Amino acid sequence: MPTPDTMILDEARRQMTVCVVCKYCNGYCDVFRAADRRPALSDADLLFLANLCHHCRNCWYACQYRPPHAFAVALPAALARVRVLSWRRFVGLRPSPGGLAGLALAATLLVPLLAVLLVPAETLFATHRGPGAFHAVIPRDAMVWGAALAILGPVGWVAVAMVRFWRAIGADTSGPQVAAAVPLALRDIVTLRNLSGGGAGCNDRDDAASGARRRAHHLVLWGFLLTVAATLAAAGAHHLLGMRAPYPWISAPVLLGTTGGVALLAGVAALAWIKHRADPAPEAPETRTAEWTLLAVLGAAAASGLALLVLRETAAMGMLLALHLGTVLAFFVTLPFGKMMHAPFRALALLRAAIDRQETARPHARPQDP
Ligand code: SF4
Ligand code: SF4
Repeated sequence: MPTPDTMILDEARRQMTVCVVCKYCNGYCDVFRAADRRPALSDADLLFLANLCHHCRNCWYACQYRPPHAFAVALPAALARVRVLSWRRFVGLRPSPGGLAGLALAATLLVPLLAVLLVPAETLFATHRGPGAFHAVIPRDAMVWGAALAILGPVGWVAVAMVRFWRAIGADTSGPQVAAAVPLALRDIVTLRNLSGGGAGCNDRDDAASGARRRAHHLVLWGFLLTVAATLAAAGAHHLLGMRAPYPWISAPVLLGTTGGVALLAGVAALAWIKHRADPAPEAPETRTAEWTLLAVLGAAAASGLALLVLRETAAMGMLLALHLGTVLAFFVTLPFGKMMHAPFRALALLRAAIDRQETARPHARPQDP
């Protein structure tokens, strides 16, 4: 008896087989060209193709075989289901969509709750100013050890899942092939090239293509990286320069964090707007809760961080600090189980696709070389 996972893979294989024969969409994205090289469409091939898909939805609006045609090709939804399956398979665990949202909410509220229970009210709701003000509310050791526990476990889990995924999709590649393809893959990652669809952009709402989704993803990507850089700059200022948070407005941690937080918030708002208005027909509805959960966690982290910055010299600082740490905790505890897994898995899929492209470009390569 087929399992739900087998049925998802078989349905994606059926649809992709039609595409390999049809080839009409080969100009839209790397997925179709990569499928051409893998006509057998094994389970590992489908896991790779699903993570290579950037869900631009070009192929849905172009397809003459989409429902109600008897072939019922609905590739964006079929690949979205395989993507979720791949994260579950290599992470080894995936809570239900409601469970994921509940975990994010519980983690967000946990730190404020602990602050109310453990920090005396006259300290938590007092105004603290100057270096060391944050640690007057939440002791530095508690913050450092809490962060280490919250970050290292999920990040390690994601790293193991990435190794397992790469073994499935890249076992036939060599070290030199990988090394040579890394610059090409990095270029695809930082430019988000595949979010341009066939060149005109994504079909965000209907059959009119636009670059809005790609621009919003850029804001999220670079905003997120700037906030990570701000955290590293703060650690450097503390350990190397002996400075204690909160830092001055004109300092690397604050400038990086403010720019990153504003970009992240703007990107999340834009993606939420695009998603809210999107035509639901090409979607896999069961994936939507995880997508909204990630947007909510990222938006809450950015908004609470900016609010903390603006109100850090008021009596609201203690609870805002606890709330911001709660949102960061929510991001990390949901990291291996939610939509955020699309980032590392897609990066590996882009690396695998870059190896394919390099092999195809070699003068002596045969068209169907693996
Ligand atoms: S999505 Fe439709 S039109 Fe595009 S390649 Fe597949 S079958 Fe052909
Ligand atoms: S949704 Fe976009 S990226 Fe995904 S297979 Fe279709 S055209 Fe390619």
